[in-house]
Amino acid sequence: MSQTTEQIQKSDIGDILENSLQGIRPGPKDILRLLESNDVHLMGLVSGYLTKKQFGNKASFVNNIILNYTNVCITDCKFCAFYRSPGAEDSYTLSLDEIETRVKTSYDMFKIRQVLIQGGHNPNLKIEYYEDAFKMIREKFPTVGVHGLSTSEIDMIARVEKSSTKEIFISIKRCWFTIYSWCGC
Ligand code: SF4
Repeated sequence: MSQTTEQIQKSDIGDILENSLQGIRPGPKDILRLLESNDVHLMGLVSGYLTKKQFGNKASFVNNIILNYTNVCITDCKFCAFYRSPGAEDSYTLSLDEIETRVKTSYDMFKIRQVLIQGGHNPNLKIEYYEDAFKMIREKFPTVGVHGLSTSEIDMIARVEKSSTKEIFISIKRCWFTIYSWCGC
């Protein structure tokens, strides 16, 4: 018995991993158990094995830019050197024109296919800011996908708008936003 097989058998999520190896996808309850499990290394081993089995050594990349639209943030993470408090001298928020210029320059020079939109938790930005930016990108650069926002940015917009994350998600999705980002702020 290999060391990994033994680890899977001893793990509290072993049944889910075994099923995945048999091609059975985890259901909602399984996913909750995976989220609560500390066996992250084992999950990585199994997912790496399954990826390699399906795709071999092929890898693909998306030609994209990361658009940090604002460095204003009220979350104050101790490790972060990027953010500035609201009103700080070197804080910034890109205007719609500035966003367009950055995307156009990147498109003209590098033929980007995606813009990853990511910024701080800015309490001054209402949902229209995001909607206008997403609409502009999709209308002026139809071959460029919009990748954003992260969960905590959606949460911040919901707080600014005194709305729910679900409502914000639906509104933003209506504006041609294509891929939801799980990374970043
Ligand atoms: S939420 Fe993001 S931008 Fe804000 S302080 Fe934390 S890491 Fe920095």
